[in-house]
Amino acid sequence: MTAENAFPLLKRVIAENGREYRWTYAFTILCLLLVAGTTAFSAWIMRDVINEIFYRRREDLIWLICGAVFAAFLIRGLASYMQAILLQRIGNDIVARYQKRVFAKLLDLGVNFFSDARSGALAARINQNIGGIRDILSVTVTSVARDLVSLVGLVGVMVSQDWLLSLIALLIAPPLILSVVYVSRRIRGVVHETVLLNSHVIGTMQEVAQGITVVKAFTMENQLSSRIGGLIDRAHERADKLASISERVTPLSDILAGLAIAGVIAYGGVRAINADQPPGSVLSFITALMLAYEPAKRLARLQVNLERAMVNARMIYELLDMDVRQSDVPGASKLEVSAGRIEFDRVDFAYHEGNPVLHELSFVAEPGKTTAIVGASGAGKSTVIGLLQRFYDPAGGMIAIDGQDIGQVTKASLRGAIAYVSQQPYLFEGSIRDNIRYGRPDATDAETEEAARLANAEDFVLAQPQGYDTPVGENGVTLSGGQRQRLSIARAIVRNAPILLLDEATSALDNDSEKLVQDALDRVMKGRTTIVIAHRLSTVVDADKIIVMEAGRVVETGIHSSLIRKKGGIYARFYALQGERAPDLLENPAAKPEEDAAPAEPKDNSRRRRKTG
Ligand code: ADP
Repeated sequence: MTAENAFPLLKRVIAENGREYRWTYAFTILCLLLVAGTTAFSAWIMRDVINEIFYRRREDLIWLICGAVFAAFLIRGLASYMQAILLQRIGNDIVARYQKRVFAKLLDLGVNFFSDARSGALAARINQNIGGIRDILSVTVTSVARDLVSLVGLVGVMVSQDWLLSLIALLIAPPLILSVVYVSRRIRGVVHETVLLNSHVIGTMQEVAQGITVVKAFTMENQLSSRIGGLIDRAHERADKLASISERVTPLSDILAGLAIAGVIAYGGVRAINADQPPGSVLSFITALMLAYEPAKRLARLQVNLERAMVNARMIYELLDMDVRQSDVPGASKLEVSAGRIEFDRVDFAYHEGNPVLHELSFVAEPGKTTAIVGASGAGKSTVIGLLQRFYDPAGGMIAIDGQDIGQVTKASLRGAIAYVSQQPYLFEGSIRDNIRYGRPDATDAETEEAARLANAEDFVLAQPQGYDTPVGENGVTLSGGQRQRLSIARAIVRNAPILLLDEATSALDNDSEKLVQDALDRVMKGRTTIVIAHRLSTVVDADKIIVMEAGRVVETGIHSSLIRKKGGIYARFYALQGERAPDLLENPAAKPEEDAAPAEPKDNSRRRRKTG
């Protein structure tokens, strides 16, 4: 660790947390000063113990000296107790605060962050990293306030007893400092690697837990074991390396301390024998030296421990400092939706520069009508839906709702005007009622129940053991795909937004279930501007407008009856090829990977657990 990058970090941690806790810290430091003071005192009083009690036989002073020794230890004990509690409380508080900050940040970050990050590893890393911030503060406070002050006090005692001996003892400082610098320089890279490896291991375990049915179905156990085994071995090897590097300070400081103490005893002993001085000051000196050893050792390790904490703290700040893309422009107004007309005007977009996905894409979704987007997998349909919600910003052109550029309005008002039903129905931690109410937090119980009714969900909800209060999500009941769909439709209904975005489920539901879902969708689409990524023939046939996309462009627009008559038209060709037999074959028959289907969705655990119970 070099001073120039350690200090800004330390300053930041202190600036962000110091104020909040300044009184607690002040009191903690007072306690630590008491610990340091009483430690120095116990060494200092050794001279009087030896000289006055044993050498000069002053019976009158026995009680005074013994009382003072006892009082010193009493105070020390109480002060140590207080400071330990206070520091731990501050630490717990800091962990909680940073957890909240990080969680808020994660919710703020754009979907692009989550399409790049591995959720399991991310969670594990965050967990380790937050500990780093706590450790920085507690390590610094204890080291400076207790160990440094103790050391100064004890060295003061040593110097006051015998300055020449002090000089001899202090000869060990320079080699000790050099060795610490060497160790802390080597440790940083190893710590960084260890944290990453550990989070990788934990993250992979989590993924296995979530995808256990796939693991079993593909008999991936052996492959996974050997892959994770390899990771674990590397983490193990790094941890061993970390231990051996960071512990290198210990034998060295022990050897140096041994040299110093032996040297002092030799010199002091020879002098006492020859000069017939009372041995009090030499003994007090040796006591101080021995007591100084522990804090000195801890201080020597300070850099090593701090280095570990700093690596973690730095990683947390990398996350907290990440740019939130698509933030509101200064002075953004609120989106006012009147009719709900959506217009894409020559929109260009690329996820990664140089790889354009949409090219001058233009279309209008008329207010209150249903616009179906069809096209082969990878044509850019989901991208259109993502852009409209401002998960990403277009590189060129404009997207407008009722004439207002969505880039100029607040994200909250934009998304407030939109209800979204994704291809995979996501359920989150909470009850069925909570999950519907995520659509609009101030919805009443009656409204959520009405939404469930409209979404054809009431029957199965009431059949659950606790009805609307039945927990779903990670640890909740297992619902079928169709049931989940209907809950997510209920969520969209309760939102009561003028614009509805729909990514039709491709996964085949059984006929009954499909009918119920379709029924629910028809109800929610009524009177709303709906853009639907259509996979079912019935949807496109009934749509007020069909947009056919190919490679990021709109190639055809119209209604079903006119499009099928267009000679040589793409839609007509699709239709002729696949006919009415296959309701969802407007999609390219080539199976598309799951990730393609919903690029804009954060990974959701409950989905993958669906069939695992
Ligand atoms: P569709 O919904 O029509 O199947 P998408 O909008 O999902 O098509 O994808 C359009 C193109 O953008 C594809 O080439 C796809 O690989 C790419 N793409 C989609 N999501 C991402 C992403 N998060 N990062 C990079 N490229 C993406």
